[in-house]
Order: sequence, then structure tokens, then C-alpha cells
Amino acid sequence: MTMQKLFVATKNTHKAEEFRRILLPLGVDVVSESDLDFELPDVEETGTTFEENSMLKAIAGMKATGLPTVADDSGLCVDALGGRPGVYSARFAGEPSSDMANNDLLLSKLKDVPLHQRTARFVCCISCVFPEGHVLTAKGECEGVIGFEPKGENGFGYDCLFVSELGCFGELSASEKDSVSHRSKALKIFLGEFKKYVNREKKC
Ligand code: IMP
Repeated sequence: MTMQKLFVATKNTHKAEEFRRILLPLGVDVVSESDLDFELPDVEETGTTFEENSMLKAIAGMKATGLPTVADDSGLCVDALGGRPGVYSARFAGEPSSDMANNDLLLSKLKDVPLHQRTARFVCCISCVFPEGHVLTAKGECEGVIGFEPKGENGFGYDCLFVSELGCFGELSASEKDSVSHRSKALKIFLGEFKKYVNREKKC
């Protein structure tokens, strides 16, 4: 099997950049919609789990490009909110999706919640679908707490409120975030699975 290009099915340029950075050791050309100069069709995230939604996105990307396609579905699970916003993280405050509105809503829902009850985790599920039908999956989590006010200018989404063991994601450099993030943990597992699969296919 020849493997020159791996398509990343996301419209989120921050996510695409994280994928590209972390998948660098694969030695394949990791491309997103801007590289291919085509527009990814919108995928309705009808699944009730991160796993299901990442698979829907990967299948849609593979069908649209004919390339092996990797996609993630990720979100923030807050213990004091019974795991919400979870799979609804992007549209927590409604549509169209707005990071600022989502963060404001999260802070208002946690207004009276003390620090020790503000525990949360980012979750990321990765699915990769190959044109011949093979599927690889991986999952990563990152534990933290929700801060009391937005901090930092880096990252996207809930980064300005999420405080990991290294500090608030909004204040971390890209490489610091990559060293602990849910996405990098999932992508590193995926990287190993991907190499194993491609090497096995080469031998056949
Ligand atoms: P998805 O594109 O459906 O996976 O949406 C995930 C949503 O979860 C994003 O829009 C963000 O709000 C949030 N999210 C996922 N990963 C991260 C992250 O690394 N930092 C900040 N927010 C994230």
C-alpha cells in the first residue's frame, strides 16, 4: 500500500495545525481542506458519543477526497455539570458556534461552584478510515479544573478557562499544550497504530 497523503477532516484551522504538528513523525503528507483547495461538506454530528462523531467525520472526509482520512471529535466534560457540555461543546451556547459565548455560559453555570468542585477533562477520540475500509481509533483525555476567569491568548475553544497540571491552556505554548493535551495523547496512540497498520500492509 502506498501512503503519500493523509487527509485531516476538520474545518478548525487550530485543530488542523495540532494534527500536523503531532503527526509529523509519520513521514506522510498531512493535508487539510485548504491544502487541497476544496470545501469539506458539513457533517451533522448526530452521534451521542465522541467515538461515533469522529467516525462520521472521518467517513465523510474519506468519501469526499478518496484519501485515508483522520478526524477527531473532542470536547470538555465538566463534573459539576454531569459531564456536559461533552459532545455538545462546540455548540454549548447555541448556533452559530462561538467560543466567547460558550466560555461565558460555562462561567455563569459554574458561578457558585468552588474550586475543588470545578474538575473537568478534555476528551478526544480519533478515527481514521482508509479507502479499502480499514478503521483505526484512539482516545486521549486531559484532566484539569475550570478557572474563574479567562486567561491567555493562545489556543482556541475553552483553552482560556481550562487549567491543566501545566497551567491554563490559554497561557501555554503550543509545545507545552501538546505535552499534556487530550488530542496529542490520542494522536500519539493513533500514530503507533497507523505505523503498525502501514508496515503490515507493506509486507503483504
Ligand atoms: P468538535 O469540532 O465537534 O470536535 O468540537 C469540539 C469543541 O470542543 C470545540 O469547538 C471546542 O469548543 C472544544 N474543544 C475541543 N478540544 C479543545 C481544545 O484543545 N481546546 C479548547 N477547546 C477544545
